[in-house]
Amino acid sequence: MTQPSTEEFRAEVRQFFDETLPGALDGIPSSMQRAKKWRTLLFDAGLGAISYPTAFGGRELSTEYEKVYAEESRGSVPREDSVFGIGVGMAMPTIRDHGSEELKERFLRPGLRGDEIWCQMYSEPGAGSDLAGLATKADLDGDEWIVTGQKVWTSGAQHSQYAILLARTDFDAPKHRGVTMFVLPVEQPGVTVRPLVQMTGEAEFNEVFMDEARIPRSWVVGEVNDGWRTAVALLAHERVQTGVASVGGSSTQRSKAGRVPIPVDQLIELARTRGREHDPVVRQELASLYTGQKIMGYLGKMGVHPSIGKLWRTIQGRAAADTAARLAFPASPAWEDDDSARGVDEDYFAYHILNCRGMSLGGGTDEIQKNTLGERLLGLPREPGPDRATPFRDLPRN
Ligand SMILES: Cc1cc2nc3c(=O)[nH]c(=O)nc-3n(C[C@H](O)[C@H](O)[C@H](O)COP(=O)(O)OP(=O)(O)OC[C@H]3O[C@@H](n4cnc5c(N)ncnc54)[C@H](O)[C@@H]3O)c2cc1C
Repeated sequence: MTQPSTEEFRAEVRQFFDETLPGALDGIPSSMQRAKKWRTLLFDAGLGAISYPTAFGGRELSTEYEKVYAEESRGSVPREDSVFGIGVGMAMPTIRDHGSEELKERFLRPGLRGDEIWCQMYSEPGAGSDLAGLATKADLDGDEWIVTGQKVWTSGAQHSQYAILLARTDFDAPKHRGVTMFVLPVEQPGVTVRPLVQMTGEAEFNEVFMDEARIPRSWVVGEVNDGWRTAVALLAHERVQTGVASVGGSSTQRSKAGRVPIPVDQLIELARTRGREHDPVVRQELASLYTGQKIMGYLGKMGVHPSIGKLWRTIQGRAAADTAARLAFPASPAWEDDDSARGVDEDYFAYHILNCRGMSLGGGTDEIQKNTLGERLLGLPREPGPDRATPFRDLPRN
């Protein structure tokens, strides 16, 4: 296939969002079905795997073209796309960059086309910020790895067919070594997924129990015992995904999908509905939020360290939620499920006010992002790590 110029490609992307997408998801009842339909349309139009090899349905175009796509799609991507944040945003690029030919052949096309949903099994009850403290174990038994342990906060596991799993394969090595990254089939007898209900009332994430779950021997991403390297590579994608990339979604759609700052346009509309648009303090807040939203857009184009984008999104998300709270609920923190008779979608705003707190945690907490920036960008001394050389087996654990 001949390579289009960036301007031809820009026209292609515009045509997709102006002509192919509008109306294509109308009448599809479930959010998951709409999400899958959107991804399939995007992939089949040649826009779902822009920089991936053609062998896996990609276009083999440079990052310049990805930037063009980001510019032209900004504000138009359906919120339902957040279902693919882990698969398309994190697992697929990690498999592309570190996976074997077998894994690429098996997983890239269906993952990028939205035929298969993925989750990320990193965190454990005793290993969150200290991810290298994970204790789920994987032992090789003939042609299979046998996995036993527990994961927690696993977003979307209840909808997923596959997981990127971190497990310990050598308990005698220090904690950052002896970890391996696997592809785990979620739908099997050895895996139990239990949804956890959050304060929003939704069960976005889960506890996952693995009791002799099975993985084919060759479904290792990277090398055995070298999983920390691939884990960090995936985390870089996660910080982009949970940071500035998350602002590409529709600015008009009112959806509970995705954890993104409330778009400023919606807050301006809320201020008008409440008759507060002339209040100077409200106007100041809206102007400041508008500036923040613009900065997030610029950060996305500048290619800054992903932790900066993630921290910025958290700050913006909480500030937008605070303004929404003051406008939507001036007298009390309580709300009715449906207050549409008063012209305010209080359920929608209440959901985002509660949900935005999770932005500071998922993908690494604010404190961890600051530690990362301090050490990697500012060259400050590393956090003390007296346990870095001790065999994992000998470390004190919870
Ligand atoms: C909405 C949401 C979705 C998530 N989805 C997933 C998922 O799909 N898959 C997955 O694997 N995990 C997921 N997580 C888990 C997330 O990655 C962890 O919550 C996060 O890494 C923090 O770990 P923890 O909850 O164990 O907190 P802890 O690590 O126990 O931290 C507690 C507090 O101590 C602070 N702290 C800890 N260590 C340090 C330090 N060294 N320096 C300074 N402060 C420190 C933290 O910042 C935090 O404030 C999700 C979490 C949320 C909230």
